[in-house]
Amino acid sequence: MKADEKTSIELRPSRFAGCLLGLAIGDALGMPVEGMRATSIRKRFGRVRDFLDAPWRMLRAGQWTDDTQMMLCHARSIVDRKGVDPEDTARKFLSWFTSGDWRGIGSSTYESMQRLRAGVPVEESGARGEMAAGNGAAMRIAPVGLVDCLDLEKLKKDVRLVSIITHDNPEAVAGAQAVAFAVARAARGDLDPTTLIPETVAFVGPSRVSERLLLAEKFLAQDMDPSEALARLGTSGYVVETVASAFFCFLRTPEDFEETVMCAVEGGLDSDTTGAVAGAVSGAYNGLEKIPTRWREGVEAAEEIRVLAEKIYLIVAEG
Ligand SMILES: [Mg+2]
Repeated sequence: MKADEKTSIELRPSRFAGCLLGLAIGDALGMPVEGMRATSIRKRFGRVRDFLDAPWRMLRAGQWTDDTQMMLCHARSIVDRKGVDPEDTARKFLSWFTSGDWRGIGSSTYESMQRLRAGVPVEESGARGEMAAGNGAAMRIAPVGLVDCLDLEKLKKDVRLVSIITHDNPEAVAGAQAVAFAVARAARGDLDPTTLIPETVAFVGPSRVSERLLLAEKFLAQDMDPSEALARLGTSGYVVETVASAFFCFLRTPEDFEETVMCAVEGGLDSDTTGAVAGAVSGAYNGLEKIPTRWREGVEAAEEIRVLAEKIYLIVAEG
């Protein structure tokens, strides 16, 4: 960190809580429309303003999915270990996996959990190859962005170490690094929406994630309609698409958490994950008080998530 960067840094607990609750809220808002096409969502719901029941998933309004379940594994591990510990994180993933309380699980994560259970070490458990470029690391990484927000080089390494537990793929790692970087800059109060994409691209380095982020920046400069932009950036489970679409939604309305998360969820397909990523970044940038009360109060386990965020804040603030 350069000396002049330090002066603009200001830690606030509200940003930490906003980040983790924002992630859970985006996940829960997207949960009932996951897998639907954007056009079907528009036809059936118009705007997605409220949490909805999803009886076919056995989930009620406000409940979240695997994105938040795995984010909570990171958060609890960080609190227990006072920082990022890949082996402890893997143990927490595995205990979630063996609990059988799955609310969706990606194929890379599923395969990695089988390998961990069979005793394969954390450096080797992750899925490899082209199919491992899913958004399973990016969706859950926000707590690492928070705890490492004052040391971005450590953040980059830590994100890789915990991403490869399930996704040992350069794009999956780059996507998670992009999200953690944005969360970190927002949490410490020096995220500038006008330069976020070039700074993220410089941080992550040459990758498809970076290329798609630059395309998102071009669409933002053209003031492209979000439905067209997200259709072109993509909203599938491919991390390159998720990260670019989530950044687009955030940067289109950086001061407006509600609009950002609705925009992300309404993109369809992997709605819960695009919502989770956009919600984590926007929640960290805007802080807890800018999140609508109906969502703050209606999301599952809100108090537990807030307390975990507060504990991570204290780890950072007390150094
Ligand atoms: Mg999910």
